Amino acid sequence: MLAIDVGGTKLASAIVTADGAISAERRTATPRASDPEELFAALVALAKASVGEGGPPIEGIGVGCGGPMRWPEGIVSPLHIPTWRDFPLRARLADAFGVPCAIDNDAKAFALGEHWLGAGRGARALLGIVVSTGVGAGIVIDGQLVHGASGQAGHLGHVVADPDGPPCECGARGCVEAIASGSALERRGRGEPAAIAAKARVGDAGASRIYVDAGRALGRGIASAAALLDLDRVVIGGGVALGAWDLLEPPLRAELAMRARLAFMRDLRVTRSALGERAGLLGAGKLALDARV
Ligand SMILES: [Zn+2]
Repeated sequence: MLAIDVGGTKLASAIVTADGAISAERRTATPRASDPEELFAALVALAKASVGEGGPPIEGIGVGCGGPMRWPEGIVSPLHIPTWRDFPLRARLADAFGVPCAIDNDAKAFALGEHWLGAGRGARALLGIVVSTGVGAGIVIDGQLVHGASGQAGHLGHVVADPDGPPCECGARGCVEAIASGSALERRGRGEPAAIAAKARVGDAGASRIYVDAGRALGRGIASAAALLDLDRVVIGGGVALGAWDLLEPPLRAELAMRARLAFMRDLRVTRSALGERAGLLGAGKLALDARV
């Protein structure tokens, strides 16, 4: 299967087989194209390089793409890719490669990938969280992705963490994403998340506070999700979380211990991603494999 991961900062493609082997990985920065066709051409060129190197002909395509999107039609308007608005990505990729294409939210693909081959293996009720520019998540219960009424299930980023917190891009206030996302950190710390983390590590009180608040917001969101869904595992990935896990983990765990008090929630395992940047690609491959049966 051809697996594709479409993000605001990078595009990735690879060949993923039914036994979970991944090969012919290709990555490139997402072009700052103003023409939707230019961006699509760059994506197809990248994916064709993977196909060319990947051995036997592909049977299908799986794509994880930033939301929002019309699902399962795969008509995408990624928040962080302004060039594509109502772009029919699923149909266009199926045409370009002459095989069926399955597409879903990139955070749902992350959760599926971690459940299949990563830190979520064996979980009965998994929440996979991606903390990068935004905060996304996917839910896998009994081996199946949870979709919801319109395919949007898992928007942990818009669960309320602080009713009086900062305004969120969604129009509400105090959402997890408004406190813990890379954009929120940048806004508050006036710098890149990695630079704020470096300051926090040498004892800058303001920078430390930003990560403590982010960790606590994630802990609150996870506690709410655990109560609602009877989770047994949470896997956290994404560049911002993995780059500052040492700063996020302590406040996250402390907050979760304080908020998740019912007996069934106490054994909840929270770990970081085992697959790193490959989780999204492996999940995209699994989308294609699952769509085939
Ligand atoms: Zn929100």
